[in-house]
Amino acid sequence: MTAEKTNHFTNASTRADNNLTKKRVLVTGAAGFLGSHLCDKFINEGYHVIGMDNLITGDLKNIEHLFPLPNFEFYHHDVSKFIHIPGELDYILHFASPASPIDYLKIPIQTLKVGSLGTHNCLGLAKAKNARIIIASTSEIYGDPLVHPQTEEYWGNVNPIGPRGVYDEAKRFQEAITMAYHTFHGVETRIVRIFNTYGPKMRLNDGRALPAFIGQALRGEDLTVFGDGSQTRSFCYVDDLVDGIYRLLLSDYAFPVNIGNPDEISLLDFAKEILTLTDATVKIAYKPLPKDDPKQRQPDISKAKEILGWSPKVNRAEGLKKTYEYFKGLPKEELFKLPK
Ligand code: NAD
Repeated sequence: MTAEKTNHFTNASTRADNNLTKKRVLVTGAAGFLGSHLCDKFINEGYHVIGMDNLITGDLKNIEHLFPLPNFEFYHHDVSKFIHIPGELDYILHFASPASPIDYLKIPIQTLKVGSLGTHNCLGLAKAKNARIIIASTSEIYGDPLVHPQTEEYWGNVNPIGPRGVYDEAKRFQEAITMAYHTFHGVETRIVRIFNTYGPKMRLNDGRALPAFIGQALRGEDLTVFGDGSQTRSFCYVDDLVDGIYRLLLSDYAFPVNIGNPDEISLLDFAKEILTLTDATVKIAYKPLPKDDPKQRQPDISKAKEILGWSPKVNRAEGLKKTYEYFKGLPKEELFKLPK
């Protein structure tokens, strides 16, 4: 299948001029939460950005403001199929993949395919174009971790045949094939292990704790906490993550780097923070813990600090406020939209 390209150029000669001078970057998963923020970042840094997405979980609304720009193009394409991009590429950011449990449990085969075949295609493209590639790995490769906080040296505790295995193992394979392309083909590769990230453009109904809590508070429903709520997570604001990814891409470090905010909180305390933030008068309702739900999550970010000079700048109170403002500003019908 050939990629369907949508470009909205103001004028063709502007585009030609831009293409001569600007570095060209391909962002897969461009219409998703993180991909759309990365498109914004690279546009702001003066790159020519080529977004690619099959819209399986993403939404063109996240990038529609970029369509009139001469240095933005969009391909509606499934990266698990052969990728053809004319012209040169300097960087590839491979972020296409369902990312929240509600999505990857519904589309498990596509999740495994985009992590394996999709990554293989992106690495092949990087090799052909002599481009540097960064792949979006995840703290989920640590599974339900037996080491706390998690350093990059920890190999993880993943149940390969559990319900979350389709995502976790796809991402572990993704890391393995990326290192293989680096070692055997000399491709310039970077691996970012992303810990829970939040911010504007998340989907309210994607099932992750933060949008779930805010959505429930805005609808006047009780906040659902799974188990006794003692399981912990560490939430990183999206601007911090994007800065870390940018630094890693431009660094010369080929091994995995954790990017996340080490400020750990139990989900029960987090639910209480959301109640205070939203001024909601609802209660907390408890439901059984899903299978293989990780009990603890906290990144060790020593490597990011040392190699990239990176550490998160936005504290949770500030980040939550910005995210809440975004969700509050959405049209009312978004609050009641069912998952894709
Ligand atoms: P998202 O669902 O908002 O975005 C993913 C995007 O990829 C969507 O636009 C979707 O349509 C697209 N996509 C999926 N399969 C595709 C395919 N085969 N071809 C083309 N496009 C495809 O998720 P997100 O939160 O933005 O996550 C982006 C990446 O970051 C994922 O690889 C995810 O595993 C990783 N990640 C995210 C987090 C987080 O906290 N958000 C944490 C760890 C890792």
